Amino acid sequence: MREDNASELKAGEVEKEKTRRVRLKPINREQMVLRPVDVEALVPEDHEVRAIWEFVGRLDLSRYYEDIEVIEGEAGRPALDPRLMISLWIYAYSKGIGSAREVSRLCEYDPAYQWLTGMEPINYHTLSDFRVVHKEALDDLFTEVLGLLSAEGLISLERVMHDGTKVKACAGADTFRREERVRRHLEAARQQVEQMGDPRLAEEVSPRVAKARQRAAREKKERLELALEELERIRACKSSQEEKQEVRVSMTDPQARVMKQSDGGYAPSYNAQISTDAKEKVIVGVGVSQCGSDYEELVPGAEKVEETMGRVPEQMVTDGGFVSRENILAMKEKGIDFIGPMGVGVAQSAGQMKRRGVDPSFYPEAFHYDALSDTYRCPGGESLRPDGEEKRPGRTNYKYRASAADCQKCIFKGKCCPQNEMMGRAIVRGVDDPVVVAHKQKMETDEAKKIYRQRGAVAEFPNAWIKDKIGLRQFRLRGLVKVGMEALWACLTYNIKQWIRLRWRPQWA
Ligand code: SF4
Repeated sequence: MREDNASELKAGEVEKEKTRRVRLKPINREQMVLRPVDVEALVPEDHEVRAIWEFVGRLDLSRYYEDIEVIEGEAGRPALDPRLMISLWIYAYSKGIGSAREVSRLCEYDPAYQWLTGMEPINYHTLSDFRVVHKEALDDLFTEVLGLLSAEGLISLERVMHDGTKVKACAGADTFRREERVRRHLEAARQQVEQMGDPRLAEEVSPRVAKARQRAAREKKERLELALEELERIRACKSSQEEKQEVRVSMTDPQARVMKQSDGGYAPSYNAQISTDAKEKVIVGVGVSQCGSDYEELVPGAEKVEETMGRVPEQMVTDGGFVSRENILAMKEKGIDFIGPMGVGVAQSAGQMKRRGVDPSFYPEAFHYDALSDTYRCPGGESLRPDGEEKRPGRTNYKYRASAADCQKCIFKGKCCPQNEMMGRAIVRGVDDPVVVAHKQKMETDEAKKIYRQRGAVAEFPNAWIKDKIGLRQFRLRGLVKVGMEALWACLTYNIKQWIRLRWRPQWA
């Protein structure tokens, strides 16, 4: 009997288990919720958005306020505070966001953006325009920031590392066209702009859409006109007629140039030049150029630092890509101690010899110079006598030549000067300017080598940070002026982040 009861109880439990229904919290998406929001409590005390707001609040923004037309006591919608717009962009860039639409979207739900805006929405057109309209004000802002960082002891200008990095342009490699195609597209764009003025066409769409289309057509026409100007500019740098005819330009961003990338490939790009103070790795100068080579960017880089900091650095350190005799003289002229290795000349000389079919055993090293008679003696035992000189920045090239008769009958001619039919073999003796000689000697010292070894860690850090954290591997804007502003925003963000790390963050540690 007891056994029957036990089995009945067990069966009941199993049945109960079968029919048991768990109770879960329902999700009601059809309700309206009204909750009080403490805006101040949206972000914690040590959130970096507060640091950005505080830092921007210390800056003199009068250049931005000058452009605001709405004033107290008069009609008109109040303008957005430049302090807010700057803080929004700095915070967005620090999170790797460079799209005005995305920033506008984040202002609707992200607590940090909501804290900044006081939970007010911000139109993306307003954000987008603000970023590129105030060019001079942005330059002043960068200088202002450096002034504050300098006052806080983060900049010394004792040693500045200068480097360049290629940033891809907002244009594809397949947008490059020759003059004929550009002109054809320009003609079509001009016709389109003219048709846009036809009221019958405007009636078919809303005024807002019609306005947007008009603006797009006008911008396209202007871009193609600029493309023709850029074509002429590039052509002026080409020597042969053949090269001039081959010139192409991007129809999307005519000011972009095809440049070699760090991975060995080629892409439409700009060359961003950044000067970094070695003390705390603060960026003290930034510029963007259309030139793929770095040689021409050192002097403008030094001038940029002088422009923003009011004086040139005591010392500038670069890699070999910036070192030329001309630059060594220019740095000396500016009173800057220049550290950078030389070494390209030898490779060029070997390249020339190879192109001329000269055997390595008859390279210039095989010829012996006699200072007393000012002549060279060749491996064949003949003399090469002075044959003119050429002055170049930082160097004078003295030419020496063997007689044509000696070379023509020489048994070594096939190895020594196989392409010379009418003239004898020539040798160039380059004599460096004393300033260049002193630079070469300095670069052989342990001290200069030690300083140079610090270059990579300092100069490449901001480049990597701007590309990895800010995501500026490709510009989002087009044209030299606008990409210059985008680079400036990125460097501004980097510098403020350095201040947060070094001065603001420690108080919460
Ligand atoms: S080719 Fe002329 S320069 Fe060369 S080894 Fe002979 S004589 Fe000398």
